[in-house]
Amino acid sequence: MSEHIDELRAEVVDACRRLADAGLVLGQAGNVSARAGELIAVTPTGGRLATVTEDEIAIVDLHGTLVDGPLQPTSELPLHLAVYGGFDAGAVVHTHPTMATAVACVADELPCIHYGLLALGGNVRVARYATFGTDDLAASVAEALEGRTAALMGSHGAVTYGDDLQAALDATELLEWACGVYVHACACGTPRILDEAERRAVAEAFSTYGPQATEPSGISAEPPA
Ligand SMILES: [Zn+2]
Repeated sequence: MSEHIDELRAEVVDACRRLADAGLVLGQAGNVSARAGELIAVTPTGGRLATVTEDEIAIVDLHGTLVDGPLQPTSELPLHLAVYGGFDAGAVVHTHPTMATAVACVADELPCIHYGLLALGGNVRVARYATFGTDDLAASVAEALEGRTAALMGSHGAVTYGDDLQAALDATELLEWACGVYVHACACGTPRILDEAERRAVAEAFSTYGPQATEPSGISAEPPA
């Protein structure tokens, strides 16, 4: 295995620790993967994200065939493969966080109640329930992810993807936070949903948002008034 694959395994383990430390997974729940070219590093079946080690991380190809590793990949491998197959994903995170799972147990979607959700694509759909580890579940989640980087999974949990593990982890944390806000908001009233014009304005604002260099001290691009 190349040095790059070793790095990928280390990154997956680091992401697992962060999810466990943040309380986003319980026991053996949750699985994480990251892709480098034609190979995917993925957590093993039955593994605990809090204690999984680099040498336990399975390496599979894009068809799910085990290439390296002492343990079989997660039973949710079809879900991970469906995300890589359908979207431009560099990493996939599947968890059972409390607030996201609570919403996924009762709702058809997490409505766009906060502008931050536009970073995930807006309202987050709840994928139709199917038995864990099945191709049926993978297809249901892939459908719910259309145009989004996050989906809730009916009576199950959440899945997010991103260009890399950092982006996928950020999306999971944002989704869990937003689901918490939604649950609290529903407890004290009817949350307002951002309309189309408000969403467009946010998308425009996002396009110019971020760290921006200031003019060097003492030099002004504008003529003095
Ligand atoms: Zn699960």
